[in-house]
Amino acid sequence: MILQRNKLVSISLLLLATLIASIQHKYSYKLNYDNNSGLEAYDDIDEDDDAIETDEGSYEEQDKTKFDKNVTKEPDKDITKVSDIKNSSPVQNNNYIIVKKNENIYNILCKQGVPASEALKASSAISKIFKLKNIRTGLKILINTKMNNNVVILEKLEFKPSPRYKIIVSKNKYNEFVAVKEEAKLKKVIHNVSGTINPKSIKHSLQKCNMNKKMEKETVSVLQSVTNISSCKKPINFDLVYEKYYDEENNIIDNKFLYISAVIDGRIKRIYKFNNDGIEEYIYSDGTVMNSNTGSMFIQPIIYKKISSPFGLRVHPITGKSKIHTGVDLKANIGTPVKASASGTVTKASYFSGYGNYININHAGGLKTAYAHLSKILVKNGQYVKQGQIIAYSGNSGNSTGPHLHYEVMKNGRHINPLSFVPKQPKRLIGKKLSQFNQFKNSLNHRIAQLNTNIIKI
Ligand SMILES: [Zn+2]
Repeated sequence: MILQRNKLVSISLLLLATLIASIQHKYSYKLNYDNNSGLEAYDDIDEDDDAIETDEGSYEEQDKTKFDKNVTKEPDKDITKVSDIKNSSPVQNNNYIIVKKNENIYNILCKQGVPASEALKASSAISKIFKLKNIRTGLKILINTKMNNNVVILEKLEFKPSPRYKIIVSKNKYNEFVAVKEEAKLKKVIHNVSGTINPKSIKHSLQKCNMNKKMEKETVSVLQSVTNISSCKKPINFDLVYEKYYDEENNIIDNKFLYISAVIDGRIKRIYKFNNDGIEEYIYSDGTVMNSNTGSMFIQPIIYKKISSPFGLRVHPITGKSKIHTGVDLKANIGTPVKASASGTVTKASYFSGYGNYININHAGGLKTAYAHLSKILVKNGQYVKQGQIIAYSGNSGNSTGPHLHYEVMKNGRHINPLSFVPKQPKRLIGKKLSQFNQFKNSLNHRIAQLNTNIIKI
């Protein structure tokens, strides 16, 4: 057909196509319909015996498996035809079409003989709830048509872009196409995995845990937010609790992280994944929200009480002059440990006029950090330090009006706001949020207890 287009780029382009196609359709739909015999072959696709039923199976393959199974459940076309003869009603046609390269719903429907204007309306209905560009090659589409006065009428169209839902297009009482998203009925089963991570070979030790890849990744990411795993002295023992989601055919289609307990250098950490007003957050058992991963590789240098002075223009507390504050002042008691935000080489570790006891570290990527008003310096100039390593204790040395850490971040020689770069101070859930979390935690703990495993006691 002339109307084959690479993609359904925009409705406006299609409107033009519709005009041409509606003219052309008059002459060509019959031919298209007759050509359908080639497409009907897809109805014969058998159940895939190699159905992927492991965690590692890709969605696409599982998706296909399910569709293949569905095929066998669909009413046989021949039966429909028999009933058609009896009732002499319009010929019903159920076709499974596999989307080929450079095909879209619009031109697939046209190929099925559906008038271009109808194909466009159906595509447009879909586009309201699903991005048409996400219709990928290999996707199976059920197209239900009937013949009425030699015109192919599209009755229903259905496809499953994800194991979690399908899109169904049909006509409402006003004879307009409407697309709906139907969520799949999934079965959730709680599971747990116990394992050990050797800080020196994280990847290798995870492989031994026999975990799903997604859960492996999430476990490392969560533990990495608690500590810098590779700098841990002892292997980390952990218990992960997660849910497996099964579809109606018992294919595992997803895994959802619920909880992890881990012993990190002798200390137990318990972390829950909690849906906090639509945002999934990792929360410690006492309600403290774990630092969200800002994408920055830096960590906060100190546990502070408050930000006593932000980054930017300010009136200097001692000189009274307006001046750019090149860092942030983080209020903390004298003697609070100061950690290196990232690994790097110490370029200065000494008393430095108004800054008092001062440390400057050179990191990769043109980044530098500085730590001032320290009470005690624990590193030397030229020394390589690891991320999270305690490099000093905070103090009140130099030009300082009270105990705090003056902390700076420089990128390519320019000062940037450290708070936009370093994850923020952890916050604790309070009030209603905290009670919601506690409710969630208690019910999950109850479910975990039912698992009857030797999980680290909660
Ligand atoms: Zn300062």
